[in-house]
Amino acid sequence: MAAILLDVDGVLHVSGQPLPGAADAVKRLRRAGHRLRFVTNATTRSKADLAAGLQSTGIELDVAEVQTTADAAVEALKGRRVLALVMHALVGDLEGLELVGDNVDAVLIGGADDSPETNLVFSYMNLARAFAELELGADLYCLHRNRWWQTQRGPLLDSGCYVAGLEYAAQTAATVLGKPSPAYFDAACRALDAEPSMTWMVGDDLETDVAGARGVGMRAVLVRTGKFRPDAVETSRIKPDGIVSSIAHLPEWLEEHIA
Ligand SMILES: [Mg+2]
Repeated sequence: MAAILLDVDGVLHVSGQPLPGAADAVKRLRRAGHRLRFVTNATTRSKADLAAGLQSTGIELDVAEVQTTADAAVEALKGRRVLALVMHALVGDLEGLELVGDNVDAVLIGGADDSPETNLVFSYMNLARAFAELELGADLYCLHRNRWWQTQRGPLLDSGCYVAGLEYAAQTAATVLGKPSPAYFDAACRALDAEPSMTWMVGDDLETDVAGARGVGMRAVLVRTGKFRPDAVETSRIKPDGIVSSIAHLPEWLEEHIA
């Protein structure tokens, strides 16, 4: 039996539309005795909302099995004064941080989408305020630094550009809290009481999922759904341990490959 970390966006659903066979695959993985954890860089919804959305598509999971970047932020920044430029839905999951507007210990950058709210979060005024705090000595953190994310309408700009922009302006380097940071994968292993060498990561992103997991000694399977691009696999030095056409084919693939 293995510990299996399942990415959510692009593996179980795309823009909330379930991928065919996802619910059944999760059921079969559980029946085979594997321990599962759902590890996501998604930043547009609260953890409770995310879990409820997955459950509504027939995926059996408990909200406690979901690990989000907000969890990682709370772990890293508990009790500190934080200027959080994150989407509104996430604020409730940042309990334990002191969310304030100035004189902060840390600036935290979250995800982005094309909602009018996001335009306000990443307004010039807010970015200039974040820059000013960094200049005064605050540390820069980000939930992730993804360049883009896959939606049903195609790729959409993500918040990595804001992180890179602030790093450039303030001449600093951000600490990444979500995938591919080793701490994020280590937390998932701890939650499953699993050794990284006995743990598999399943995702659609070569950089955050596959390279991140392999960096801490896990094995990684890439799915050909979500943000998967054949040319990216061909030209990348990052090689997954396996590639499956979708999560629907993961249970039998693992059966063959878990020695
Ligand atoms: Mg993904």
